[in-house]
Amino acid sequence: MTRRIEAPALTEFVTALFRAVGCAGAEAATIAHHLVAANLMGHDSHGVGLVTEYVRSIRAGRFQVGRHARVVTDRGPILVIDGQRGAGQIIGTEAMDLAIARARAHGVAVVALRQSHHLGRIGAYAEQCAEAGLVSLHAVNVIGHRPLVAPFGGRDVRLGTNPFCAGVPCPGQPPLILDMATSCIAYGKLRVAFYEGRRVEPGVLIDRDGRPTDDPAVMVPDAIGALLPFGGHKGYGLGLLCDILAGALSEGGTNHAGAFDDDMIINNMLSIVLDPAALGDSTAIADHVERVIDWVKASPLAPGSKAVLIAGEPERARRAERLAHGIPIAERTLDELAEVARSLGVATPF
Ligand code: NAD
Repeated sequence: MTRRIEAPALTEFVTALFRAVGCAGAEAATIAHHLVAANLMGHDSHGVGLVTEYVRSIRAGRFQVGRHARVVTDRGPILVIDGQRGAGQIIGTEAMDLAIARARAHGVAVVALRQSHHLGRIGAYAEQCAEAGLVSLHAVNVIGHRPLVAPFGGRDVRLGTNPFCAGVPCPGQPPLILDMATSCIAYGKLRVAFYEGRRVEPGVLIDRDGRPTDDPAVMVPDAIGALLPFGGHKGYGLGLLCDILAGALSEGGTNHAGAFDDDMIINNMLSIVLDPAALGDSTAIADHVERVIDWVKASPLAPGSKAVLIAGEPERARRAERLAHGIPIAERTLDELAEVARSLGVATPF
């Protein structure tokens, strides 16, 4: 069961919750805006359903409020940034502001961000770079809690859902934003399915004995089974690479025994931000991008298909629909939000 809530009312309510738990006004508003934007784009796994977890972590002193991106190494186009376990939505945005400035100055910037609290929907950072006219690649790993994904050929959890993301500005058009977990589906989607009493599609989960299952209860509330990487050995390879690029190069930490006892969501992220104009004629580059996009979109439709889409398009379509008709939020999530609000002395408006 879900109920439609208007985005502005939801943002205002979630901002009030974060203010009540100790965030300053701008910090609370930025976190709320980012979470509601994820809901608007259809990624409910990364939306307001995370509020309960965030508030619990803030109260336990694991998620540090009021922190900012701290530059620990500055070598011109290369920056290492410590997120100090602060709000990922603040730290990630500040890290990308720095990356954009360095990419404009040097043509390229490599930013290794370590120990941020959960960065949320990674596509937001690729969008920030694309709005500045820059191409970006982001490899992310997830540490701080028990891993969720089995390695190809293994049967227990060893890696995070380690997302990979890329953004390409398309002049005159919205950007291409490829933003994906390296697991078959994001963990939060299992939580949403569990709360809505749904099974998940086949091929996504295994139980504790390594047998295929479609029951999200093997992962929610506790991971007794495992998520599978997307695309078999290929998704597994990319997920492992994300752990190394994001977790090892930033020195923020990779998954290994003993690395996940903190009961919190920590992200490390390696971002490479490129100015196309530093490589060549930006008009010609944009023309090449446009040609290939037109080419693939002109493919005759496969049986049952409604359109050939470019990464980022499904999110924009859902955003338009949800802005017009409200965001469907699971009743269970609304109950949890009401409970958090009660505990913080905040009125629930719906
Ligand atoms: P998804 O499978 O819904 O989409 C993955 C990508 O495929 C998107 O870029 C989307 O635009 C594109 N896509 C979807 N349908 C398409 C189609 N028909 N044609 C062409 N392209 C299409 O996303 P996901 O893997 O479930 O990830 C969801 C979110 O979870 C992402 O925003 C990701 O950043 C986030 N995430 C975050 C963390 C973290 O620790 N911060 C961890 C895992 C995932």
